[in-house]
Amino acid sequence: MNRVMLITGASRGIGAATARLAARQGYDLLLSYRQQAATAEALVAEIVAAGGNAHAVQADVDSEADVLRLFAELDARYGRLDALVNNAGMLERQMRLEQMDVARWQRVLNTNVIGTFLCCREAIGRMSSRRGGHGGAIVNVSSMAARLGSPGEYIDYAAAKGAVDSLTLGLAREVAGDGIRVNAIRPGLIDTDIHAAGGEPGRIERLKGSVPLQRGGTPDEVAEAILWLASEQSSYCTGTFIDVSGGR
Ligand code: NAP
Repeated sequence: MNRVMLITGASRGIGAATARLAARQGYDLLLSYRQQAATAEALVAEIVAAGGNAHAVQADVDSEADVLRLFAELDARYGRLDALVNNAGMLERQMRLEQMDVARWQRVLNTNVIGTFLCCREAIGRMSSRRGGHGGAIVNVSSMAARLGSPGEYIDYAAAKGAVDSLTLGLAREVAGDGIRVNAIRPGLIDTDIHAAGGEPGRIERLKGSVPLQRGGTPDEVAEAILWLASEQSSYCTGTFIDVSGGR
């Protein structure tokens, strides 16, 4: 029986790269997205054409009802879960904190923090050896923003990723006895659409000089770290963070 991985926000960027690598490693996949159905379905078709097994589900991680529907789809399709990758995340246009309103903070916290919480909760219910599950691995996609704070750009997003780091640490300790490992990666400047969403498509070009490796990273480079933390090769790691940031 193949191992089953659920990846949130897998239509593009880091999530899509993780899906491609996971499929090559033999995982059966459930991929979620928020809006871009055509992109997600094209990725599924690509994986299936290469001999893999993947399905895409529209589900907004901000919505408890959508997350419950996503996990019901997982139960119906596969009946098991070995690895959850909490990758869905977003940021809004760059601005200083004094320009931000409450609604923006709520949107950013909802997707990046509440969404991660909801998916962790549903995964643990299925993986926990205390509840008849066979254990599993959760990988949260945080950000170097949690460490750097993103001044002048998006302190709200940095604070949300800081919460993801604390959630990762606490949950790792809480469910270690349930056979579940919980780890996180902190990507640095990775070449995806997220920088355009912040209003600066050329952000990596502007900042790459501040990266010791002198370049941005690729989604594939991040996917390698995610797949390692999801695999048995990292069996003695829990509550661990891998910074995939070129030394930044
Ligand atoms: P991206 O290219 O903008 O892709 C974001 C993905 O998340 C898309 O698949 C999107 O779905 C999905 N998504 C967004 N909001 C969602 C929601 N509410 N519910 C469900 N899915 C949602 O971003 P990325 O750069 O690959 O980012 C992936 C993760 O890495 C995020 O957690 C991000 O914070 C983190 N990260 C990225 C960088 C970087 O430099 N790129 C650095 C540090 C951390 P649609 O396609 O349907 O919109």
